[in-house]
Amino acid sequence: MKTELLTADLFEWKDVAKQAAEIISNGEVVALPTETVYGLAASIHNEEALKKVFTAKERPSYDPLIVHIGTVSDLDEIAEISEELRPIVDQLIEKFWPGALTLVLPKKESISDLITSGLDTVAVRMPSHEIMQEVCKLAGPLAAPSANRFGRISPTSASAVEKELDGRIALIVDGGACREGLESTIIKPSPAPSEGKKAIFTLLRPGAVPREQLREFGKIEKPKPPKKGEETPQTVEAPGLLDSHYAPITPLFLYDSIDEFKPEEGKKYGLLSLKGENGDFFKAYQWDKEITLSPGSGKISEGAVRFFWALRQLDEAGLDAIIAEPMHTANVGEALMDRLKKASVNR
Ligand code: AMP
Ligand code: MG
Repeated sequence: MKTELLTADLFEWKDVAKQAAEIISNGEVVALPTETVYGLAASIHNEEALKKVFTAKERPSYDPLIVHIGTVSDLDEIAEISEELRPIVDQLIEKFWPGALTLVLPKKESISDLITSGLDTVAVRMPSHEIMQEVCKLAGPLAAPSANRFGRISPTSASAVEKELDGRIALIVDGGACREGLESTIIKPSPAPSEGKKAIFTLLRPGAVPREQLREFGKIEKPKPPKKGEETPQTVEAPGLLDSHYAPITPLFLYDSIDEFKPEEGKKYGLLSLKGENGDFFKAYQWDKEITLSPGSGKISEGAVRFFWALRQLDEAGLDAIIAEPMHTANVGEALMDRLKKASVNR
């Protein structure tokens, strides 16, 4: 299949969104920019198109997709929200949508098992990216996982999508670099257990919305592992969250201290650093390639935006190994460290 590339610039982006929506309505899958990472979108109403998402990505069917909606009113077509759950869902929507917060909610009967991997819940969010939002409005709700091959580095630019999926999908829309650069935060909200108590949020995946912003609205808990012998799709709260993910082909080692690094003669090593010249890792070795996520300031939010881009650069540099320095876990640092651990071979 020939993959077309359309650039959505300032003057033509609505036109490009219209073309993308038409292609999706005709049953094809299209890579689209979002504020988190690029997504590979299919209509939630087209089973054949949904299957194409899994084929193009080589994604296993047990890993469910996130549904993206263009307007809040579309939510009632996707999720069955009880009276008890409604107030907290409304609060979260009011504060975080459109944006990088995905809610796992009881699903409507009509939602395909392909989207939910047979679970009785569905993950849904309203993206803030203008192009993605417009396509969702024109083509209806879209199921869209990240536009990379399964387990690989998430794409934050159209050229990264091209490297991952060229020849496998109909269209890539180039909308520039993603402004968050990390995937959405996924929570499963539950009503407050009793009067005067807070709602409970099961944090299924840390992401671009940090837990510090969610705390005001509810108590954040870890997902409960299913009891031994009771592992069915319905008992798994966080499916698809494998230990190895977001991974470069070049082995990546995450060390707590530079003392753990034992270079071998004649091998090439690259460094992924947050602080650059201000950190111990930077000075300790003559690196063959070095990327500092936030030069000068060492700011974690800047690091997050550049993280997947940096991983890709290092992966393409012909190194024997990538060494990563640890980063702090405050704010979006929690999501960054989560991705870094999953990308590494030693953690
Ligand atoms: P991706 O779109 O590639 O970022 O992946 C979507 C992720 O959302 C999956 O890997 C799951 O971990 C999560 N997810 C989607 N649907 C559900 C659901 N119904 N329950 C829990 N997690 C979900
Ligand atoms: Mg993904």
